Amino acid sequence: MSDLPTVTPPDWSDVKRVLVIVAHPDDADFICAGTAVQMARQGLEVTYMVLTNGDKGNHNPEITRNQLIAMRKIEQRKAAELCGVKEVLFMGEEDGFLQSTRAIRKRVTREIRRIRPELVISTNPDRYFVGDGYINHPDHRNAGLVAIEAIFPAADNPMFYPDMADEGYHPHKIKYLYVHGHEQPTLRVDITADIETKIEAILSHHSQFSDPEGAKKRWRETWGEEQEDGSVRYFESFKVMKFG
Ligand SMILES: [Zn+2]
Repeated sequence: MSDLPTVTPPDWSDVKRVLVIVAHPDDADFICAGTAVQMARQGLEVTYMVLTNGDKGNHNPEITRNQLIAMRKIEQRKAAELCGVKEVLFMGEEDGFLQSTRAIRKRVTREIRRIRPELVISTNPDRYFVGDGYINHPDHRNAGLVAIEAIFPAADNPMFYPDMADEGYHPHKIKYLYVHGHEQPTLRVDITADIETKIEAILSHHSQFSDPEGAKKRWRETWGEEQEDGSVRYFESFKVMKFG
């Protein structure tokens, strides 16, 4: 059992809009689908931003990269719909080679200024290893980097991209950043009531799973945390950054 604070449901009373910035189609569903469901249920507008096109996410030689890109968009839209997510933005960077370039920083900053989220969820740019058996995908690190470099110093500074004012997009400062995959999370969202929806959302990404039933069983076992009363609960954890 973790001694981290668990808040059910979390207080998002000062949040109207949420932007989730991730590398691949399916990342948002793994890291925060349960949280997104709860946010949507509370009336928050949740937008997913998928930075890469996911064109490396399959080993079947009969599927072309363009077919895979199209399939993964459909899958991600379906998953988002299940969770009550308002919109999915596909930024189209090449899978496997995501970098925090000046070009993508500008495009992400424009979306932050357009959507004006109070809360952003993204991945930890510092996480090279996952447990003892996985190297974290570099796109996951770089998605976190793209997110934080757009949030600060670009999005709320009028000296960055002054031309965006002509498009009607003005500087914007977010209030909260939820970082997934941090070694010291400070918030655990209890998603037990929505674990089925989360699993269904992840499995909407048909191109990613050859044995969905096996995956389902494995996730239920590895993600569930047994409580003192013998019940099993599920959580999504984040390090919360709060900006004054
Ligand atoms: Zn990924």
